Amino acid sequence: MAPDVADGPLCPLSGIGLEATTMEEQKRSKITATPPRDDDEKNKNDDRERERVVADYNARFENEWMVLRDDVKWDMVAVIVLYHALALYGLVTANVLQHKRTILWAIFVALCTAFGVTGGVHRLWTHRSYKANTILRSILMICFFSAGQNSIYQWVRDHRVHHKFSETDADPHNSRRGFFFSHVGWLMLKKHPEVLAKGQKIDMSDILADPVVRFGEKYFLPLKTLACFVVPILVPVYCWNENWYHSTMAQVVRHVLSLNATWSVNSWAHMFGNKPYDKEIAPVESRWVSYWSMGEGWHNYHHTFPWDYRAAEIGGGRFNLTTLLIDGFAKLGWAYDRKEPARSVIDRVIERRGDGTHESCAKQPQQQQQQKHED
Ligand SMILES: [Zn+2]
Ligand SMILES: [Zn+2]
Repeated sequence: MAPDVADGPLCPLSGIGLEATTMEEQKRSKITATPPRDDDEKNKNDDRERERVVADYNARFENEWMVLRDDVKWDMVAVIVLYHALALYGLVTANVLQHKRTILWAIFVALCTAFGVTGGVHRLWTHRSYKANTILRSILMICFFSAGQNSIYQWVRDHRVHHKFSETDADPHNSRRGFFFSHVGWLMLKKHPEVLAKGQKIDMSDILADPVVRFGEKYFLPLKTLACFVVPILVPVYCWNENWYHSTMAQVVRHVLSLNATWSVNSWAHMFGNKPYDKEIAPVESRWVSYWSMGEGWHNYHHTFPWDYRAAEIGGGRFNLTTLLIDGFAKLGWAYDRKEPARSVIDRVIERRGDGTHESCAKQPQQQQQQKHED
């Protein structure tokens, strides 16, 4: 059997280090393991064939560029790099002060985009952390399509696999493969076979049962094109006579920044921050990621209680615009059955599994001292 080099994290772009070496070693040890021998001629031929395969296989690992060429999706690399370059050019030539209304419009679209991702495809469809009526689900679907990402079905499947197999080969943006891989590199490489295998086993029946999602899947490309590009570009042109160049560039910049905001939850919020709820997992609490992702940076909490519609504790200066919006829609009756754990459960988890950085841990010694004083 020909060696398969497409299934390992072997791309230098991914910023991988020790894990990749370990995987290579594992693969090599697998392929060089000596089979049981006897004098049968057929087995001798098998051994010769085997030696040839091992030699070919090892030669490929010695030539990094061969592996790189086989693993990388070059079309995606080109699209992502050129699109970022275009956004940078747009940003430099934007003349922000002369196009205030267009910039404000781009910010408004960015907020809708973020709500579609955080309140829609993430907290509603992936985690079922609350319920929404048909009107709100339709709004969320359109907002999500304005983010210009994968379809709802693909997004939910990838994110459910991410939660179930975090920081393993089956995690689509496994942060152990480095910052670049978990941020954007994973979109430039072929999926690891474990991601494909585990993805197929994820129960998606609830997603397929939702008529709003089914409609979105059926008309995915036209809806995404309309919501992400056509309408956002046409509004400034027809409503306040903006020129085509600035209207288009404002949306390209908005799209690229929105994509990076979403990606930062997979990279930054799995690396740089504290772990008040579970010190054994990689996801962290990140104030900065929460600012630019409308409240998705409280990721240590989210991986501990993924079914909480708030994706964070409330208070303590935690920015969480998505939760405010869901609560607003709940007042209208459009969002309901919002799930959250009891305070006592959260406290117990902080005490047993946290790293001691939760604000309640700082209060405890003070309270104990105060009590001693009173006694
Ligand atoms: Zn995560
Ligand atoms: Zn999640």
